[in-house]
Amino acid sequence: MNGKRVTTLFLTVSVSILLIFSVKCRYDIADKSQKESNLLKIVTTTTMLTDLVYQLCGDSVELTGLMGAGVDPHLYKPTEGDVFKIYYADIIFYNGLRLEGRLDDLFAKMKLRGINTIAVADALSANDLISLDNTNTNFDPHIWFSINNWKSIAWFVSQVIIESDKKNEYYYLQRLHNYLQQLDSLDKYNREKLSDIPLSRRVLITAHDAFGYFGKEWDIEVIGLQGINTVSEIGARDVRRLADFIVKRQIPAIFTETSVSDRNIRALREAVRSRDFEVTADGTLFSDALGAPGSIEGTYIGMYRHNVTTIWQALK
Ligand SMILES: [Zn+2]
Repeated sequence: MNGKRVTTLFLTVSVSILLIFSVKCRYDIADKSQKESNLLKIVTTTTMLTDLVYQLCGDSVELTGLMGAGVDPHLYKPTEGDVFKIYYADIIFYNGLRLEGRLDDLFAKMKLRGINTIAVADALSANDLISLDNTNTNFDPHIWFSINNWKSIAWFVSQVIIESDKKNEYYYLQRLHNYLQQLDSLDKYNREKLSDIPLSRRVLITAHDAFGYFGKEWDIEVIGLQGINTVSEIGARDVRRLADFIVKRQIPAIFTETSVSDRNIRALREAVRSRDFEVTADGTLFSDALGAPGSIEGTYIGMYRHNVTTIWQALK
């Protein structure tokens, strides 16, 4: 490691320690009310996880979601306010599998501090995951698009919460049971809609590779213009290659995503048009973040139904 990198590393670690220390001091002086609350303090990262914990617990816990609607978890950097919330959490739930790559260091530190810091991906076995390189160490992190995975995660999250709040066990189990039934209804709706799409038209072109589990579950070929992670850049060659594929296969739709810039998708549309082909349908899908709080798409179930309806309308 050269001198410059050592200095940079030293500065990064020092700033992180100072940040945590200054947040702690401010908290101790300014806000004692949180300490006095009897409710379990749960912090979640993605909007999908925030919704899940809300569905499982209602208002019986103090729930803080770090990311909002339309926020890309691949690119999300922790703010000073996040460190403050995380520092005093009883339980932190995050997706894992490097989805929230820029929060990984912070979570490792919280684990060392003894805070119950849980990657929900730990609810799943290698058989439930899509391997990215056949090594069983690098998996697609977009696990919520498998409803079976989401059920396992709901059960797992519920158990973790019950371990910390035994007195409300019956209430949490009732809510879990109710939620699993709602997921079964969603599954039925998806099956009815998606089975209506002819096999030859089951191709989903999106801004990034978020729909691998969706495609596997519903027998749809998925192609993201950007890879698994939105951190990577795409080149003109990627756009040309995908435009050629769309024209060759006469694919009728290209989808944008709410949490990813549509710049690359607009370039793809232009490239398709320049080949004298026009996609006849499009739509916007929710991939790595839910819709606005209070909207139908602001819940996991509403988001999934929106996506399925949009895909069905475009490809049927
Ligand atoms: Zn993603």
